[in-house]
Amino acid sequence: MPELPEVEALAGYLRERAVGRRVERVEVAAISALKTYDPPPSAVAGRAVVGAGRYGKFLDVRFDEGLHLVVHLARAGWLHYREAFPSAAPLRPGKGPIALRVRLDDGSGFDLTEAGTQKKLAAYLVTDPALVPGVGKLGPDALEADLATFGAQLRSRRGQVKGVLTDQSVLAGIGNAYSDEILHAAKLSPFAITDRLTDDQLATLHAATRAVLGDAVRRSMGQRAAELKGEKRSGLKVHARKGLPCPVCGDLVREVSFADSSLQYCPTCQTGGKPLADRRLSRLVR
Ligand SMILES: [Zn+2]
Repeated sequence: MPELPEVEALAGYLRERAVGRRVERVEVAAISALKTYDPPPSAVAGRAVVGAGRYGKFLDVRFDEGLHLVVHLARAGWLHYREAFPSAAPLRPGKGPIALRVRLDDGSGFDLTEAGTQKKLAAYLVTDPALVPGVGKLGPDALEADLATFGAQLRSRRGQVKGVLTDQSVLAGIGNAYSDEILHAAKLSPFAITDRLTDDQLATLHAATRAVLGDAVRRSMGQRAAELKGEKRSGLKVHARKGLPCPVCGDLVREVSFADSSLQYCPTCQTGGKPLADRRLSRLVR
């Protein structure tokens, strides 16, 4: 799933490549992906792309006269920039992974795509990004929050730190992969309870959050959109590395189920060498 660093890099790529170009037309192939109907996609035609940014994990493409295409890429969504499209024919609804296409006046443009059968990608055409339900509820940006804000937000929500870090209303931008990486860098158990963290632990967690996300943004920024996913994978130390050695201490990375997914961590770095109990499994065994 694209998280803060990938979305930031996609926005950076659009700022470099698309800003200044005019939209020829917007084509919607997956009707269910476009969550708004007023203004209609035809309202974007003729407008210039004036900027691109992000709210947490939401990508914001800005057009002149105050129109925004706000996109949540969900688990399997992506943005593919095309220097040219193979055909001038409009997309046929319901065919293939392309949800939405934006054609620009130099023949280039971008496709929003979603792999798999679960279609969760959500696009909104709005005059104000705050009108997008998920954007209005976002907490402070995970990369921009200072220590005081970060600490207050984490302590305001009692729970396992893994879950609280990925709660978009607490901090915006962190998902399953970077929360594993941040907790590993902070040498904290994913099951530590937020309101019991000491000031020192919170300061370490804040520094780890900035370092992990900041490094990932820097690594991603120079990449072309198509290469971003590989760049993310190569930078990970524990996430999706079950059974592989921790690059810090050499212990084997372990996995435990969490919420409707799983998390990875290093016992030596994070839990005093003790493996975490898989609660769902132990409930079944009992
Ligand atoms: Zn380790």
